[in-house]
Amino acid sequence: MRDERIGQLASQIAAGDIRVAVFDLDGTLYSSVAGMERQIIPAIQSLASEMLSLPVSETISLLSLYKEKYGHAVVGLREHHNIDPYAFTESVYRSLDTSDVVPYEGLRDALSCLADKLRLFVITNSGRYHGRVVLECLGISDLFEGVVAFEDTGFALKPSKQAYMILRERVGVSYREMIYFDDSVRNIQTASQIGMHSVLVSNQIVSPPLFWEMHLGIEHVEPSYAATSTHNVVEFIGDLARRVSNPAPSTDQDMTLCEDDHKQLKSKVAAIQREELCAGVIFRLTTRHNVEPSVAQKMVKGLAEYLVILSGYEGVLHPPYPIDIAWHEALIDTHRYADLCNRMFGRFLHHTPPTEWRASADSSSDNGIGLTLNVAESHLGALDKEVWTDEQAPWMRRPYFVQRTVHIR
Ligand SMILES: [Mg+2]
Repeated sequence: MRDERIGQLASQIAAGDIRVAVFDLDGTLYSSVAGMERQIIPAIQSLASEMLSLPVSETISLLSLYKEKYGHAVVGLREHHNIDPYAFTESVYRSLDTSDVVPYEGLRDALSCLADKLRLFVITNSGRYHGRVVLECLGISDLFEGVVAFEDTGFALKPSKQAYMILRERVGVSYREMIYFDDSVRNIQTASQIGMHSVLVSNQIVSPPLFWEMHLGIEHVEPSYAATSTHNVVEFIGDLARRVSNPAPSTDQDMTLCEDDHKQLKSKVAAIQREELCAGVIFRLTTRHNVEPSVAQKMVKGLAEYLVILSGYEGVLHPPYPIDIAWHEALIDTHRYADLCNRMFGRFLHHTPPTEWRASADSSSDNGIGLTLNVAESHLGALDKEVWTDEQAPWMRRPYFVQRTVHIR
């Protein structure tokens, strides 16, 4: 189904029926894992508190009232406190840490291919300063004809139709001549209602399409409000651009895309392994469980791989035995574990004791480690069977492991 939709979009581009591609910025052209969106609200609250000489708690209440009344809190600052909203928001965005705003691998190449066929624009609920800084961080600013920011829309924000009307006037084509990428369902819903060809983007390997759908070969049902959807915006753009030029991509091209997908997941695994949390897990595995340091390293790598896969999976995904042991040692460092989950996955990854999932899960979901391994290897390639196993390896034959009577299968 997804292939068909991309093919249709490519045909419309080739025929000149779609002439412009519009992208949301944060969470669409780079990962929301970079944490920019989470920095913005505290930064607004902090600066407003300072300028109004009010405690932060009172400032938060006031900004909330202004947001409700005016749609954007800074408009309230202008109306009631004579604060220039543009200078205020630029100060806010200047204070943000952009060090984690890095491009997805292959983003520039994919966008360059698309820019040969379509005019490219960005529409953001942020200001021009933020738009310019992020595009420069991503190394793609020269590919875009323009950025529509709140200075252009007068603080009419997506998903309001007013924001898209201003975009249409700026771009100078009809809604039907635009393809629109956004990671917000609400924005995509409005864009689809007014006639844009919309693509829902999710770059955190959460649906769509779901991992289990891909793994089990179940056809993914596209959300009815979007033309199509993707969990890998670089792959999608590259695929779309190639199909405009050549409606039948070669097998080699498909394999390259697959490898890119693996690379992204593996770089996330490597980033997790560098976390302070993992240093603590290795320390406890070696000191509390007498595991050899080299094996502890493998267990932590396995844990990182498992968490990356789990974050994109809905349902029970049994952890292999050694990885579960490492997971337990991560969970007891609650602050660092929660922080890592929020930064890397945007949500807390819960651990459910085997006794509970066994009581609640139906038999069809009880596929054991075999399913976990298949899903993981289909996205990460071959894995180390010394830790991706439910067997008790020789190095586990110690009292702690022997006494553990609850098995995953
Ligand atoms: Mg976004």
